[in-house]
Amino acid sequence: MTQPTVVISLDLELSWGIFDLGFDNDVVEMARWTHDIGAPRLLNHLAGNGLSATWAAVGAMMRPSLPDVSGLPDVTFPHFSKPWFSYVPKDGNELTHPEWFGARLVELIRSAKPEQEIGFHSFSHVPFGWSGMTRERAAAEYRLCAQTARELGIPTTSFVFPRNSVAYLPELRAAGFTSFRDADELPVQFASKKLTSLGMILADFVGLSPCTVETSLKEGIVSIPGSH
Ligand SMILES: [Zn+2]
Repeated sequence: MTQPTVVISLDLELSWGIFDLGFDNDVVEMARWTHDIGAPRLLNHLAGNGLSATWAAVGAMMRPSLPDVSGLPDVTFPHFSKPWFSYVPKDGNELTHPEWFGARLVELIRSAKPEQEIGFHSFSHVPFGWSGMTRERAAAEYRLCAQTARELGIPTTSFVFPRNSVAYLPELRAAGFTSFRDADELPVQFASKKLTSLGMILADFVGLSPCTVETSLKEGIVSIPGSH
């Protein structure tokens, strides 16, 4: 039994988190709001209350502009058949396109007290467990995250899978990561994924307290299940 603790993990993704499901002006505005107002405000609340969180940021978002992604093997998903970086402005930067890039935002989070942890939310927010994904792309995403971590001086401790779709754990370990956020555990277990989603909404609605979870080792990496 480990010492009980509360872990707050946040996905920091701007437009990367949603563009493949639909990309329009509302998404751009929401992502710009998150960059300029939402995330700094949340950071202030955490710091003001003496709390530390893990901010799992999309690797490409942590850069001031889009790096060379030609080494990333292509993937085509049934739900998004365009090239993955189609919408990302090739010559954009954080000033012109804060809906995609947040290097300064990450710096702001890193300079906060108490200390906040920066984790990785993949490099480009591809859904790892979805049909269309390949082992080669997964490994390349992990490698680019690890490279970004080295360049920015961030440890490769925490990884959060896009849409919590957990896959390719041995490759994650090989890239040097030591823990990941696992799928949510619910107070009540359901038979199917659809019922589980409904159950999560219902649990929020009736105010069920999240269950406590135990960490475990999966493929040599520490699994930290979500609980809410
Ligand atoms: Zn996400």
